[in-house]
Amino acid sequence: MRFDIVTIFPGFFTGFMENGILRRALSEGLVEICTHDLREFTHDRHRTVDDRPFGGGEGMVLKPEPLAEAFAAMGILPKSERVSGVSGVGEDSGVSGVSEAKSQQVGEAGRTRVILMSAQGRPFTQAIARELAVLDRVVLVCGRYEGIDERINELYCDEEISIGDYVLSGGELAAAVLIDAAMRLIPGVLGNQASSEYESFGVPDAEIDSDVDGVPRSQHGAGGLLDYPHYTRPAEFGGLKTPEVLLNGDHLQIRKWRRAQQLRKTLTNRPDLLEKAALSKQDLKLLDEIRNSDL
Ligand code: SAH
Repeated sequence: MRFDIVTIFPGFFTGFMENGILRRALSEGLVEICTHDLREFTHDRHRTVDDRPFGGGEGMVLKPEPLAEAFAAMGILPKSERVSGVSGVGEDSGVSGVSEAKSQQVGEAGRTRVILMSAQGRPFTQAIARELAVLDRVVLVCGRYEGIDERINELYCDEEISIGDYVLSGGELAAAVLIDAAMRLIPGVLGNQASSEYESFGVPDAEIDSDVDGVPRSQHGAGGLLDYPHYTRPAEFGGLKTPEVLLNGDHLQIRKWRRAQQLRKTLTNRPDLLEKAALSKQDLKLLDEIRNSDL
């Protein structure tokens, strides 16, 4: 899976790529990240990427020409020129004959997505991270100043994504958030594949097998529950003991306790998720008990 990032600050991503799971995924070739410095696509002495907004008002706007040139260099056509009309094409399509180029476009079109990082975008979620993790190529456009010229959005971008209801000074941090969340869902990236299914916002309940004893291992799907709390050694720390149930090795009891904790945590921090969660009769009973006890 390849991420292309269009940015005026390519250096921003250096530290991001040098640590943790992403560093390993990059070195193992499971993920590739290419940054494209927007200034490389300017032609004036000052390498100007911005200009004043038509109509007046605050700030500057990223000019369309360098962005369009960056797309061309990446082999990304305007949407209207793409065969499927959904997304971009690979770089090598230009060197082949027309018909071969077109067939490559068809093959690759559905697996490439061009995303504009934008406070006005669709809110980013784990479900979107899962959508992205199965693509071959994701192109991320990072705005700066007041944003980019809207015609670039119209001409090239499949969608706008926001990482939350706040305004950042640039799209780089948002792109890094999106890459981090998506890349860890690519098969082979996490040592233990199950950990991405059973954590907060994991896969929908229907996709998780119930265990042999009939107790769901976890049901926190998209629209599900938050994760349960985790403990490690020492068993007692800062005057607080690890809950006894986790120490006695009774796995059925442990699962029930964890489920109750998920319900408790979700009720406290994200009651909105409970409305959409697929809850069993037992869950509803537990939830009542939790509601009636002191939270
Ligand atoms: N004028 C814009 C804000 C521009 S901030 C507005 O009011 O919506 C500059 C750039 O930062 C944006 O172009 C976008 O790429 C990025 N950005 C800011 N907030 C973001 C968010 N919540 N999610 C994703 N990208 C964001």
